[in-house]
Amino acid sequence: MESNTLNEILAALSSPIRLKMVRALQKKDLSYSDLMKDIDLTRERDAGSFSYHLKKLLRTGIVRVNQETKLYELSPRGTSLLSLIEEMEGRILTTVIPVVRRSEYVMEPFDKTKIISALIREANVPPKVAHEVANVVKEKIRELKVEYLTAPLIREIINAVLIDSGYEKYRHKLTRVGLPLYDVSMIMKETARRKNPDFLVQSATSAVLREYSLLSALPRRVADAHLSGEIDLQDLDFWLLKKHSSIYTHAVVETYNAGIHHVEEDRLSEFLDYLFVQMEQRSSTVIRDQVLSHFNVLLSLFVARPSKGMERAARRLLRLLLLTQISENMPALSVGLSLAAPSLLVPEEPDSLREGSSSFSDRAQETHDLVFSAAKDAYKEVLRGVPPGKLLLLLCPSAHGRLEEQAEMLVGFPLANVVSRNLCDRFLFSGEGLSLPLQEVALSPTTDVDGVAHINMPRIAFESKGNEEKFLELLQENMKLISVAFASKAKYLKRFHSQTVDKQRSNFVVAPAGLFEAVKQLTQSSPLESHDARSLMMRICRLTSEYIHKVSTSDLKIRLSSNSAWSAAERFVKADISKYGFGSVSKIIYQRDRESAIYSCCMVPLEEAPGLEQQLELEREMHPHIDGGHYTLIHLGEASDELGEDRLLHCLQEAFSQPGIDAVGFVHPLTVCRNCGEISLGFQSKCDPCGSKDVSVYRRRGAYLYS
Ligand SMILES: [Zn+2]
Repeated sequence: MESNTLNEILAALSSPIRLKMVRALQKKDLSYSDLMKDIDLTRERDAGSFSYHLKKLLRTGIVRVNQETKLYELSPRGTSLLSLIEEMEGRILTTVIPVVRRSEYVMEPFDKTKIISALIREANVPPKVAHEVANVVKEKIRELKVEYLTAPLIREIINAVLIDSGYEKYRHKLTRVGLPLYDVSMIMKETARRKNPDFLVQSATSAVLREYSLLSALPRRVADAHLSGEIDLQDLDFWLLKKHSSIYTHAVVETYNAGIHHVEEDRLSEFLDYLFVQMEQRSSTVIRDQVLSHFNVLLSLFVARPSKGMERAARRLLRLLLLTQISENMPALSVGLSLAAPSLLVPEEPDSLREGSSSFSDRAQETHDLVFSAAKDAYKEVLRGVPPGKLLLLLCPSAHGRLEEQAEMLVGFPLANVVSRNLCDRFLFSGEGLSLPLQEVALSPTTDVDGVAHINMPRIAFESKGNEEKFLELLQENMKLISVAFASKAKYLKRFHSQTVDKQRSNFVVAPAGLFEAVKQLTQSSPLESHDARSLMMRICRLTSEYIHKVSTSDLKIRLSSNSAWSAAERFVKADISKYGFGSVSKIIYQRDRESAIYSCCMVPLEEAPGLEQQLELEREMHPHIDGGHYTLIHLGEASDELGEDRLLHCLQEAFSQPGIDAVGFVHPLTVCRNCGEISLGFQSKCDPCGSKDVSVYRRRGAYLYS
């Protein structure tokens, strides 16, 4: 390159035409005639003058000819001269370019170089494109005639320019996640109505985290599948941050003792205080529920003789947990009671307990009854003046009988979500009935269900237009997408949560929503009536389980659950109605109106089964394929006079007499008395024990109660 004096260079740039030429070449390389056209000169009139100006630029080394393309381009010298000029302009012309009000309340002159570096830093935009975009943005801002600019406004302009210029892929990365002012005002109104400042914080956080997950953390295809209702990543707002359920096992006792070196019988309440603090601290890391699994078995480790004192201590813990977890942002409390003490959970009896104490399983039984009544009392106490808490109760009668007593207990305190037999000595349960085999989980103080996702089965049926092979292909594709979503969740959870060495494995659960309806769509007949539909349903169930095993790894275990969340089933049906029309969807669902439409959350839609027997028969064939939790939902109806002990006992007996049916849940309304805290089965207009008419009726939606 020629060396020129500063004078020559400044002179070369001092003509408006030449400056125009340089700016044109900054955008792209041009041929002789295109360059001339670009600066609005014509060959006939201006050829001589154009050639003169071009020579000056070439001679001073500001412009050169690219040897490969033979096009004119800006030399490195030209590029740096131009940015000096722009800086000069920026300084001299601040009066015409508005100042920027930054988020930190600092006002500063508009600076184009900040846009360039943001484009390069945040979205990996190539420098040349970044310059080009920044120039257009600057021009737009110059035309705006606003008094001051804000950073969000500049970002909006940049994004608009990126879209205009066909750079959509960069815009994606530059998106600002947050809430429109209007939405924040609406949330503030709601916060004021609820008198709960935390609601504002939670809502704002959720919105940002949800957008971040969809725009950045999850691959585009996964985010799209969630948004379009093909799959549902449950509690997406906290997908990256929180676990689904945390299950406390007896190992928490060992951790407690480890610090203290010996066991003392009278230390039960100290231990329960310790447990309370653990659960309270961890409540912000869990979205759905914290589970005291086999709680009576755990307490039996402490006491030689179950006593009223033990009941009081348990009641106190449960009451405190309910009070601290009662707000809707907090996870629910699940309490599991088991009459079967799993050998894996029963350690060597401590010496202090051996002498004069009853056998461990006798103690576990006595403790079972005491804790049940403690839970009932705690719930009643908390109900006074506070909205009903999210207490989930999991009952596990022993393999041999006591069903009569279970039925009696259930009528007296009908809060049980899942009643399971034959499973509690082999599984840990979450309050939603998700199960983890004790054999497979490393027993640390807590074992977690890290996340849950759902597949919209009817959607796949609609998309495959009756073609079974296509159906299976799409099912497999969705499973892959879900496994990617799980892997990304596992990665973030590992970053945010402390892990013990033996807890490297993540546990995830997939539930197909609307399997029954999907089969109906594929075969045009009901699995309860047609043999073909029924065997297709079995086949899909078996293959779903196979596909899941295929995408599971040793670090990331995925299991299949038969029961899906209400929220997912509702979202799916709405998405499908808007995609295929209510006419098509209404052919496969039971509800005949748009408003109440929902896909089935369990294997057989509650309203469709002609009788319990047919329902159980169909369900028990599928249960062997389901390793992440399966319980049969039994619809008890609504009238309280039909919901007695006999009815419950009959259902329990019938269900558990079928091989393959190991767990059931009941669906019925609940009436809660605000005066005395009594809860009873079915609709009641006034409370039986106290006569108060101040009662509320709740329904179960999935595991949880809603008014
Ligand atoms: Zn009452």
